[in-house]
Amino acid sequence: VSEAQLNNGIEAQCRARGLRLTGQRRLIAQLITEATDHPDILELHRRARVSDPRIALSTVYRTLNKLEGAGIVVSHNFRGGPSRYELASKSCHDHLIDVQTGAVLDFQDRRVDRAIEKIARALGFEVVDHRLEVHVIPSRAL
Ligand SMILES: [Zn+2]
Repeated sequence: VSEAQLNNGIEAQCRARGLRLTGQRRLIAQLITEATDHPDILELHRRARVSDPRIALSTVYRTLNKLEGAGIVVSHNFRGGPSRYELASKSCHDHLIDVQTGAVLDFQDRRVDRAIEKIARALGFEVVDHRLEVHVIPSRAL
């Protein structure tokens, strides 16, 4: 998927939800689309200022709230930390969080999904969604 397609994706989603994407909002949407590291608001503000030095933190804050409210972006509070953002349209995945560096790695494993579904069924439920956050440190070579 090219960057242009991704950008069209978020623009189309915003239009479909009646959210106008102009100027600074578009820049923030683009930064989230391009990010692979689940940036927090301060990091998004820092990146936005590279393209638009006058962009205010409050603009980033309001835009993130609108995008999240529209279901276009999701936030995570890994280990109770600040909200970190990614596109909601990214395929269902779970997260590994390096507790030393704060780095976040996406992963997807059907065995995990199946295990969670099995546990829920055994307790009399159907899974509609899940969030799994695994805290890790780098394994040392033995
Ligand atoms: Zn993720």
